[in-house]
Amino acid sequence: MKYFIKTYGCQMNHSDSERIAGVLELANYKKSVEEIDADLVVINMCSVREAAVNRISGNFHKYKKYKISNSNFKTVITGCILPTDKNKFDKLFDLVIDIKEIEQLPERLKNCHSKKDCHSEFSSESSFDNDLTVPMSPEPVIDEMKKYKGQSQKILNQVQDDKNYCYSECSDSEMKSHDTMPKKSKSFVKTQDNDINDYFSINPQYESKITAYVPIMTGCNNFCSYCVVPYTRGREKSRPVDEILDEITNLVKNGYKEIILLGQNVNSYKPDGNTDFPKLLRLINNVPGDFWIRFLTSHPKDISEELIKTVAQCKKCTEHIHLALQSGDDEILEKMNRKYSAKHFLALTKMIRKNILNVSITTDIIIGFPGETEKQFQNTSKIMKEVKFDMVYINKYSPRTGTVSAKMNDDVSWKEKKRREDVLNTILEKTALENNQEYIGKTIDVLIEKKDKSYAYGKTRSFKNVKISYSCYPDLVEGISKRKKTVKVGKFSKIKITQANAWGLEGKVKK
Ligand code: SF4
Repeated sequence: MKYFIKTYGCQMNHSDSERIAGVLELANYKKSVEEIDADLVVINMCSVREAAVNRISGNFHKYKKYKISNSNFKTVITGCILPTDKNKFDKLFDLVIDIKEIEQLPERLKNCHSKKDCHSEFSSESSFDNDLTVPMSPEPVIDEMKKYKGQSQKILNQVQDDKNYCYSECSDSEMKSHDTMPKKSKSFVKTQDNDINDYFSINPQYESKITAYVPIMTGCNNFCSYCVVPYTRGREKSRPVDEILDEITNLVKNGYKEIILLGQNVNSYKPDGNTDFPKLLRLINNVPGDFWIRFLTSHPKDISEELIKTVAQCKKCTEHIHLALQSGDDEILEKMNRKYSAKHFLALTKMIRKNILNVSITTDIIIGFPGETEKQFQNTSKIMKEVKFDMVYINKYSPRTGTVSAKMNDDVSWKEKKRREDVLNTILEKTALENNQEYIGKTIDVLIEKKDKSYAYGKTRSFKNVKISYSCYPDLVEGISKRKKTVKVGKFSKIKITQANAWGLEGKVKK
């Protein structure tokens, strides 16, 4: 049987897909290069944007055709799925499975294959109540929910009455047994730790032989008003230190050069009373071998001076901090439930630059959040100019059903959002170019990621793309020159930077 995994969304989802592949390979499934040749298509879903959900539903007719030509063909959907979307997907896919239960996938498929039409197993009855989309830790957003009158009083009462229970996207009938028809069940179930521990211990099939994503935690307790992650991934859960160190030690032994630690908010890493994220970084830094450590993502309300000093002191930690600003206006930040001010963010970036030499700082910004006035937008432009980001991932706001902000009036027109995006892109282009020009003439370490007949490509410690011309250096191309090759894919090289533009650097091998 051949499988094909289609991944949407962030690095966390890509890391999840490596674990899905690990589970399937262990069950003797083989990877298919093309979707059309697969007997099993697994969609690893991102719910952050409503458009992605609609696109998946809209494209489904393709799988209907595959089913006609291949009677064994099955479809599975997993990843970040809201309870309300799960109802929709139950009707379309053969199997909807919680990512935390993914190690059960082969067993669930076996049951699915033994039925004539397993599709009906899920389509006849829903395990979820369409209207109940409440956060798993209600306290931080109860006020917002009241303010925006987004949820019924009934739900608020349930949440406030019993804070030990959470809303789960997985029905209790599914949690107990997977070989029976899901029944209408209680919407509130106790948080389960076992599933996530099983998930963490899966051996992944890494996509790359150079860079490995290593999840250190999952879930989020922050409840930003526009975000579905706490609803789809649940509360924060940290992975045990030993497991992380074992995985990284093995990766480094197998030649991996770049370890990217993943979590929705790595600053909250707390697997036990003794370990926090700075301590974890120090332990990883002590793993023998020549490799770089990166991490994603940090929340500005939690990032500490201790963490920044640790990054500065640990040789293997790279000089790149991604810190999501989202808005430079305090009122908008409050509506977003971000729990920091623009002033605090600015102070953090100054502290980071003071401690980490040659650091690059990247961020995410949402423009056109409900009610964002021109003046509030100007506050974002102002902070962007002041911080001089190396890269900004700009998102035009669009409401996501099930979140608190979806109940607010999305009153900034798409045209205006586009104009604001263009303004920010112009600022970014200027600051990124200025930052990159600082590299010209310097010789720096670059991790070579790939080569073609014309160039080698790699990344700096500060997460800059570097294009290395080989026209003057025929020794970069296998078979062309008898000279000893000076750059190898998967190795570090000393590269002299010769040119810079806003989006990257160009260089040559240091002789
Ligand atoms: S910190 Fe906010 S934006 Fe990030 S995952 Fe958590 S809720 Fe979503």
